[in-house]
Amino acid sequence: MLPEFRNEPLTDFSDEANVIAFRDALERVKSMIGRTYPLIIGDERIELDDTFPSVNPARPDEVLAYFANGTAEHVDKAVKVATQAFETWKYTPAEERARYLLRAAAEMRRRKHEFSAMMVLEVGKSWAEADADTAEAIDFLEYYARLMMKLTRSSDLLTPYPPEQLSLEYIPLGVGAIIPPWNFPNAIVTGMTSAALVAGNAVVLKPAEQSPWVAYHMCELFWECGIPAGVLNYLTGPGEVVGAAMVEHPKTRFVSFTGSREVGVQIYEKAAKVQPGQIWLKRAVLEMGGKDAVLVDETADLAAAAQGIVASAFGFQGQKCSAGSRAILVADVYDHVTEQVLELTRKLTVGATDAGPDVYMGPVIDQDAVNKIMYYIEIGSAEGELLLGGHLIETDTNGYFIEPTVFGNVPGDARIAQEEIFGPVLALIRAENFDHALEIANSTEYGLTGAVYSRDRRRLERARREFHVGNLYFNRKCTGALVGVHPFGGFNMSGTDSKAGGPDYLLLFTQAKSVAERL
Ligand code: NAD
Repeated sequence: MLPEFRNEPLTDFSDEANVIAFRDALERVKSMIGRTYPLIIGDERIELDDTFPSVNPARPDEVLAYFANGTAEHVDKAVKVATQAFETWKYTPAEERARYLLRAAAEMRRRKHEFSAMMVLEVGKSWAEADADTAEAIDFLEYYARLMMKLTRSSDLLTPYPPEQLSLEYIPLGVGAIIPPWNFPNAIVTGMTSAALVAGNAVVLKPAEQSPWVAYHMCELFWECGIPAGVLNYLTGPGEVVGAAMVEHPKTRFVSFTGSREVGVQIYEKAAKVQPGQIWLKRAVLEMGGKDAVLVDETADLAAAAQGIVASAFGFQGQKCSAGSRAILVADVYDHVTEQVLELTRKLTVGATDAGPDVYMGPVIDQDAVNKIMYYIEIGSAEGELLLGGHLIETDTNGYFIEPTVFGNVPGDARIAQEEIFGPVLALIRAENFDHALEIANSTEYGLTGAVYSRDRRRLERARREFHVGNLYFNRKCTGALVGVHPFGGFNMSGTDSKAGGPDYLLLFTQAKSVAERL
């Protein structure tokens, strides 16, 4: 008997005891710095001379750990081992599989601050953002475990047809390629992996090059609680080598990817090609980028709207697929909201996030991100009016810090209003009225999240119908989806709308077998 699913509570860092506990965890995690991690294929630990470092973006000279540069041969080996392991794992009862997730959740809960501390160091999350990431990872484990148990009762949904005895069983697909991004190094990695596993698949997980450290320790929870060898394989290396080989392998049955539009589209094409020896059509679950908007009309609570805009734009340095990188303000309130947004943004603190819970923004992830963001800031300076920020922040550690940046009077069709920047850059767009604002909101090729601040019932109803995004929020920010509460995934070029953390998610990793026996 399991208690009903409830979201993991967040840590209150105004309580000094929690601050002390988190600092202790940071110290413990820092004492692990400098190790070299192997590939894990089946029960083999494969150490390679060829490695790459995972570094702290606040102090790029600080190497946290070294990881093996896997190759296409390792992919082949991992897929073969997983294929073998699948033969028994697929018949392991669903409830037993679910218990591995529950056990991993319990252990992650016990070591919660360590997982969060790793993210503070590896990707520069603030304490609050890292804590929310770990809470979400625990939620995924708890939620998918329960969901799989529910799925085993699907035969009850069939229409009786005596004297036939009927069953509907959601059986697993096979070996899955799990390819996550770096920006939710615990939550997304845990969610994508555990969903595939609990559904009865064997997986090869290739974490993003920027965040293999957290991913390894998440996998370790499963290995330590005795998941059979070969069911969860851990393979590091360059996405375009290891990831690509996983996608193209004829024995890969499905690909679960979260990342950029560019890579997602490539994977979509490659997964569609039937390889020699392949006897199925691969399933591709692809969750991609966003150009999310917060829309504000003249009836809204403007103070709340300004707060929502700033939190959506600058939380985790704007590096969320759900980040509100556009604020669309109707002309009547444009100046007032702009002023409030600037006032709030000026107060944001930027720095190395291991300093304490009060640092709001850390570094962006790496030099490539700096280059891309600074390139867009240059473009934005010609397209709109630079109101705040726009510069790199020099530090003696050469950290990748960029000021929170706000552009005003940005045309809705400007590049900085259409393309995903994935950094702390906010475009303020002036709309003539609500109709115009909605039109601008829907004018990108993406469709992930959106928010509307309004007190007008009819406009909210209209936005409910017409604002074409997978996750729509009214009178609140457009980030912070909760497992089980706000199933998450987007439309159009934001992906296949797989709705992670929602009641249908596990169906993506199964196929339904209907059996009728005439008695
Ligand atoms: P990315 O596309 O660069 O990389 C994602 C993953 O793909 C990594 O593991 C990478 O190694 C791998 N990869 C790279 N090239 C590959 C190839 N040719 N074949 C196979 N795999 C390959 O994305 P990122 O920078 O890690 O993450 C940021 C992006 O992810 C943003 O666009 C963001 O919006 C998106 N994202 C989307 C969601 C969502 O739910 N829709 C959630 C988080 C992040």
